Amino acid sequence: MAEEVRGPDTTALDEVVAFTSELIRIDTTNRGGGDCRERPAAEYVAERLAGAGIEPTLLERTPGRTNVVARIPGTDPSADALLVHGHLDVVPADPAEWSVHPFSGEVRDGIVWGRGAVDMKNMDAMVLAVVRAWARQGVRPRRDIVLAYTADEEASADDGSGFLADRHAALFDGCTEGISESGAFSFHPQPGTTLYPIAAGERGTAWLKLTAHGRAGHGSKVNTANAVTRLADAVARIGSHTWPVRLTSTVRAALTELAALYAIDIDTGAPDLDVDLLLDKLGPAAALVQPTVRNSSNPTMLEAGYKVNVIPGQAVAHIDGRTLPGTEEEFAATMDRLTGPDVEWEFHHREVALEAPVDSPTFAKMRAAVERFDPAGHVVPFTMSGGTDAKQFSRLGITGYGFSPLRLPPDLDYGALFHGVDERVPVDALHFGVRVLDHYLKSA
Ligand SMILES: [Zn+2]
Repeated sequence: MAEEVRGPDTTALDEVVAFTSELIRIDTTNRGGGDCRERPAAEYVAERLAGAGIEPTLLERTPGRTNVVARIPGTDPSADALLVHGHLDVVPADPAEWSVHPFSGEVRDGIVWGRGAVDMKNMDAMVLAVVRAWARQGVRPRRDIVLAYTADEEASADDGSGFLADRHAALFDGCTEGISESGAFSFHPQPGTTLYPIAAGERGTAWLKLTAHGRAGHGSKVNTANAVTRLADAVARIGSHTWPVRLTSTVRAALTELAALYAIDIDTGAPDLDVDLLLDKLGPAAALVQPTVRNSSNPTMLEAGYKVNVIPGQAVAHIDGRTLPGTEEEFAATMDRLTGPDVEWEFHHREVALEAPVDSPTFAKMRAAVERFDPAGHVVPFTMSGGTDAKQFSRLGITGYGFSPLRLPPDLDYGALFHGVDERVPVDALHFGVRVLDHYLKSA
């Protein structure tokens, strides 16, 4: 109980700021295609774990692409273990577009600036600060906690969580649930309302390659089998397709909580629920669920031809498709229909959709931890529109939640900072996150 009252010490509050800033200064830009080097950041984390008596294991599939895994033993050996993971790489940033240098880690007027301040060196630093405070205070969690700092999340995960799940599954023995990025940061749809969306699912990834074949020939001739025309027709149909509403249990739970919060008199359990009407009534709060009530399919790349007066025999397009849990067959059947007889399609890259229970003890404890430190805040479940490392860890039977708590000022458009310009996080938000994580991880 004394530990409960004590919470993280002032050293932890200082360290979370220093760690966020210093991790940002270690440039771990992931340009894809293997062009990244996480090792210096991994060593930085490993040294700080070792300094707290937590033994880190460094793992690489490719030299320089380093992952760190460590286990903190819990007091209850019969309890399932909890995985807490964060990636060390970041997406590229062009200094010319930023107000401060993206790899400066500058702390100015109570705000930490730089690439990774949001996604997700903030969470990496918060977890590190919490477990080091526990070492100073002699705190042990109830469950075993497995910490994983991964490489390569911003590209294929082949050198990161994918490699760990394939080759080092034993390090995650006993883990049934995991927490990581993209959830529990405050969202202010309008003045006076603070929501904390906790992620309990992710849409699946369905990246497609379309290939149209036709008759090559001179650009001046009649050609009724033009591969470019065939491809363009299919791409236009796919890009403008309105996918039907498909409510997963997480999205339905989110709609139910939001409808109650906004006192909208509507039966969210009704089979004929008019979701678009409800979203209209929710106003800005609809942004939490709107991207995940349907599948999506956006054309993103086109490749065809080499000379203006030559009709090529083949044309290729790429589609970024995202699927809700349980819609994979419908997605494939729809693609067969939209592409038509003259265009072949295949999955270029595919990841399963995830869904985590909202009525679990884990979700209840995360909710309680947030509401303890912000009693006026409302926790709402949501589904992520894209994907994270949780997809790879799900192959080990680990149910993933997005829980990286931050209380943010209402005027900060945090969502826009993911992969955006002038990524930054307030010091106060990091302190809130450390307190909530400390409380949640002890009680988990
Ligand atoms: Zn991320």
